[in-house]
Amino acid sequence: MDFDRAHLWHPYTSALEPLPTYPVASAQGVHLRLADGRELVDGMSSWWCAIHGYNHPALNEAVTAQLNQVAHVMFGGLTHEPAIRLGQQLLELAPPGLEHVFFADSGSVSVEVAIKMALQFWSAQGQPARKRLLTIRGGYHGDTFGAMAVCDPVTGMHERFSGTLPEQFFAPRPDSRFGEPLRSGELDDMAALLTAHADEIAAVILEPIVQGAGGMWFYSADYLAGVQELCREFDVLLIADEIATGFGRTGRMFACEHAGITPDILCLGKALTGGYLSLAATLATRRVAQGIEADGGVLMHGPTFMGNPLACAVAGRSIELLQQSDWQEDVGRIEAQLREELAVYAEHPAVADVRVLGAIGVVELYEPVEMAQAQRRFVEAGVWVRPFGRLVYLMPPYIIESTDLAQLTAAIRLVLE
Ligand code: PMP
Repeated sequence: MDFDRAHLWHPYTSALEPLPTYPVASAQGVHLRLADGRELVDGMSSWWCAIHGYNHPALNEAVTAQLNQVAHVMFGGLTHEPAIRLGQQLLELAPPGLEHVFFADSGSVSVEVAIKMALQFWSAQGQPARKRLLTIRGGYHGDTFGAMAVCDPVTGMHERFSGTLPEQFFAPRPDSRFGEPLRSGELDDMAALLTAHADEIAAVILEPIVQGAGGMWFYSADYLAGVQELCREFDVLLIADEIATGFGRTGRMFACEHAGITPDILCLGKALTGGYLSLAATLATRRVAQGIEADGGVLMHGPTFMGNPLACAVAGRSIELLQQSDWQEDVGRIEAQLREELAVYAEHPAVADVRVLGAIGVVELYEPVEMAQAQRRFVEAGVWVRPFGRLVYLMPPYIIESTDLAQLTAAIRLVLE
């Protein structure tokens, strides 16, 4: 522990005076066991990933079986069954029209690949000036430079890297909530930006329906449908970042389904491997794949661990588990319980808003949470919940039982006092 504190960087905290960390010895189902023996109910699914819970026998088996065959081989010039099978599963599951799969090693990289696809697409069409992106405020797409440039310009890291990040176009965050119809004029800013700059814009990129780390905001499906129509009208590509929303979290397999859209490019990650290994995928339509090669070129990306067999094998098994389970009922059950049990907080004077969609529950406060204290209180109460800023949220594994979920929802009171 002393070494960890003295030498290991943890995300978004000081290397010199870090926030406290809690050592995990093992995990089982929805419970994390700390080194001192305490057990915590996990409300985070390890940042949207562990949808089936921890130490799952079928997922363990998928990794070990693959380990005994081959752990890794380069994807250049070689291929393997786990990648082929996973590619087939993804194309069967994804919105219709997506036909090509690029396996990347993390969500951020899959976003970089998506952006690169869009830029190469237009350059190969003889429109190299189309190299900018249009997005909506309140988004989050990852921590690499291309991805950072389309994160929310205020809550993201734009100030720190201004001058280095490419400057992109931002439309306002959609106002209308999920379940509400589009407000009149809500797409006007996006339409105006497209009218003024379509000849410079390669793609619109957004998180469909649920904006995650940029503010945990759930917006109207009509808005998403409207964006797709605008993209068609102005002949701009649409990139949907479903890294957080994919694989059932919002109550549909993919959030795009709420609006019945197929993007030109789709990014997947996080829950893809059931939380076991880092893997992401960028899917594209035939038109995009063909367009990229219109000038005789090819997509210029090829990470070392592209299509890692262990990660592909466990992802394939995780998708099978999902399909064999009653995940829609699980997510629906979690949603109903979150709605009921979080509703009590709406009246609290410290609370600005409570919202729930699928297996995601958000309590938005007026003031930022004091992180170290909040974590200590949560751990003492036997739960693992990690707020950020003014947002306290729950997104448990789908297998959580109602008593464990009730422990999570009750614990939120601890940061309101
Ligand atoms: N896009 C979205 C919507 C995300 O939520 C995240 C991760 N929080 C990323 C991209 C980046 O993924 P990774 O952390 O795997 O690079």
